[in-house]
Amino acid sequence: MANVSEAPLFGRLTRRGRLMAKRTCDRRGHAFALGRFLFRTPTAWEYAAAVACGSDPAAQRWLGWLPDSVVEESLRAEAMRVVPGTGPDWATPDPHSVDIVAIDLGAGRCAGLVSVHSGEDGGPETGGYLAPGYRGQGLGRDLFAAGLLLAHEHLGLFRVRAGAEVGNVASGRSLEAAGLRRAAGPPRYTLPNGRVSEAWWYQHDSPRPHRCTGPQAQWLAG
Ligand SMILES: [Zn+2]
Repeated sequence: MANVSEAPLFGRLTRRGRLMAKRTCDRRGHAFALGRFLFRTPTAWEYAAAVACGSDPAAQRWLGWLPDSVVEESLRAEAMRVVPGTGPDWATPDPHSVDIVAIDLGAGRCAGLVSVHSGEDGGPETGGYLAPGYRGQGLGRDLFAAGLLLAHEHLGLFRVRAGAEVGNVASGRSLEAAGLRRAAGPPRYTLPNGRVSEAWWYQHDSPRPHRCTGPQAQWLAG
């Protein structure tokens, strides 16, 4: 789908234009548009930009990454300035997660990341985050709707769950706006840095999921 605001991006660089124009999944990656964003398997540089999008203290309060994974403040702005469509192919460091980045085509930048990954019980979970400039505008709904779309229409999953920390009202509201409903689940979960938090659980079902030609969640196969 063409968009007037994309025109400058297409015009400047042919190779980038080809990458940016990719809207369908193939063996190398997923790609689909939803709301304001293009969601796509990232290049290595886009992935680095996405990590920077979630490295600020406000995001880390909920994400709780290991210190080595967090992009320090002095490097964050530059990392987030990566031009979408640039950088080498990216190989996921985590075989138990399918990650896609949210690209704001109008602004020509990465806006966040959403994933479908293996939860603590081994079942599929979705989760994600937005860059500071994209929070508080209802865009979390599109982010998590993209997580559901990835799970049901690309990875062939009947059910996907999501956890939010008790008190993280913004995240809970976004999950419900995307269509997830509260569900039972373990009262606590452990963040990557070891912090244990109380959890609200949500889930979403699709009666007829579908697999695309893109990379599949191998750990869930069979
Ligand atoms: Zn796909």
